[in-house]
Amino acid sequence: MKLLMHSCCGPCSTYPIKLLRAQDIDITSMWFNPNIHPYMEYKNRYESYKKLMEIEKIPTIEIDNYGLIDFTRAVYNHEYERCRTCYEMRFDVIAKTAKEKGFDAFTSSLFVSPYQKHELLKTVAEEKAKEHGIEFLYIDFREGFKEGQEIAREMGLYMQKYCGCVYSEAERYKDENATEVKLKNTYEIVKIKQEKEQYMPLLLEADPSVELVESYLKNGDLYALKLDGNVVSVAVVAKLDDSTCELKNVATKEEYRNMGYAKRLIKYLFSIYKQKYAKMIVGTSENNIPFYVKSGFDTYEKTVKNFFVDNYKEEVWDNGLHCMDMYYYGKKLKGK
Ligand code: SF4
Repeated sequence: MKLLMHSCCGPCSTYPIKLLRAQDIDITSMWFNPNIHPYMEYKNRYESYKKLMEIEKIPTIEIDNYGLIDFTRAVYNHEYERCRTCYEMRFDVIAKTAKEKGFDAFTSSLFVSPYQKHELLKTVAEEKAKEHGIEFLYIDFREGFKEGQEIAREMGLYMQKYCGCVYSEAERYKDENATEVKLKNTYEIVKIKQEKEQYMPLLLEADPSVELVESYLKNGDLYALKLDGNVVSVAVVAKLDDSTCELKNVATKEEYRNMGYAKRLIKYLFSIYKQKYAKMIVGTSENNIPFYVKSGFDTYEKTVKNFFVDNYKEEVWDNGLHCMDMYYYGKKLKGK
């Protein structure tokens, strides 16, 4: 098969190249990423991409377009739902190029990243494949993310610290500042052993099923992060088996969200449960994947199809997204 593989950067391309070559697929790589800002970041990632393709001796098609103006105009006024536009901009050009240049199919290194909105990415790629009359080759590369990052480090490739656009760069600093400035010495985390049910209203904000929350609250451990004596975040952890526990719920009062409290609570739970378990997992809807990955759940585990449809009486919606599948991510804990 003659495949056009879109490359979002060097590090993310390493594992897909390895996997595709093992399947005897004839790869040409394409650079088109108008969503990487500011300019020096774009340049660093582009140079690192070229270095990798030279090492791997992979032919390339390159559209060197910094794209700040086009991108920011395209997402203006819907910056918080910008990723669909970002995917559309890129896959439109990739699919069109694949068709015009006579490739059999196209794919993207974006499918390796646990930070991306994987299902949305797949949907947009399928839409653009149909629009341009070309096959889209879907492969979930995520299980090779860590391996690919290791390969990239060994090659000395530039490793980026955020997704790409100016908004993702700003969010990165926003989170860090919030954690450092607002949480300093002002909170305590306690295990709640009695009258757990009084925290139901807050837990239901993260998981709307009373039956499910009651079931894991009964046997799970409940923790609360308190600020000046007032509970602002809660979390429940339950045993899955002798080596694995599951973070079942994390909820923060609305007025305290996006300030780093839930992340701090999760970090604390890692430190507690590493004494007892080798791994902690969490199941999440698609919208919250970036939050959990940034919180430390850096390994994709599995997808349970139609979880929200099969286990909830009512439809579950999260920030405009109708939740269907549950995505599981894991964090390796130290200890046994
Ligand atoms: S966060 Fe990443 S995927 Fe989303 S718009 Fe920005 S660069 Fe694109």
